Amino acid sequence: AAPLFAICGRPNVGKSTLFNRLTGTRRSIVGDEPGITRDRIYGEVDWEGRVLRIVDTGGVIPDDEALIPREIFRQAQIALEEAEAIVQVVDGRSELTLPDIDLARLLIRSGKPVFLAVNKMDTAQIAPQAESFRTLGYKDVFPVSGEHGLGMGDLMDAVAAAL
Ligand code: GDP
Ligand code: MG
Repeated sequence: AAPLFAICGRPNVGKSTLFNRLTGTRRSIVGDEPGITRDRIYGEVDWEGRVLRIVDTGGVIPDDEALIPREIFRQAQIALEEAEAIVQVVDGRSELTLPDIDLARLLIRSGKPVFLAVNKMDTAQIAPQAESFRTLGYKDVFPVSGEHGLGMGDLMDAVAAAL
């Protein structure tokens, strides 16, 4: 089978938007309500003549806010078991939250190839703000805009090189 990479992160950071952008589909439902992705969704990305598999780990997000971090972690554990590389997505327009920080720690410690996509960097002007997210501990930080399709090339070059 083609190598698999996973998209992880807390609800509403834009995981499904990125999935749809990279796969060229609308299979993962995007919404203003956090947690609208009901299940893990698999797709394929054609990158420079290679077929890569991608999973959106939206998960079944509980109604109870207090349980959301646990579900993010459960999804990340599954991703670490099945995927060969992981992309953590954060919302570049909002403050980091504890689940973002804890998730980064877990993923970086795994020893797998891991990358940080700072999403919602919708213009070239604000893209440099993504640098501030280096505090999460990632070596590779990519400003992207899933909505506008910015930064996809650099992110995918790095992911593909690790697969
Ligand atoms: P998920 O819960 O992580 O899968 O996030 P979604 O993909 O469902 O997106 C959550 C919200 O963020 C939606 O309202 C999207 O339209 C919005 N969003 C996603 N990507 C971007 C982006 O690149 N820029 C902006 N401005 N908004 C985005
Ligand atoms: Mg989603």
